[in-house]
Amino acid sequence: MNHLLCPVCRSENITLDMGCQSGKYVCGNCGYVGVLVIEEEV
Ligand SMILES: [Zn+2]
Repeated sequence: MNHLLCPVCRSENITLDMGCQSGKYVCGNCGYVGVLVIEEEV
């Protein structure tokens, strides 16, 4: 199982912004928005 980490603050509180057609990720911790996230295997 993989989980996603914010590349800025390494928070797991990151979600795919479904409202955005470009499919960007949004960090709920630091406010980062972008296509780049860290994918980490558990
Ligand atoms: Zn963050």
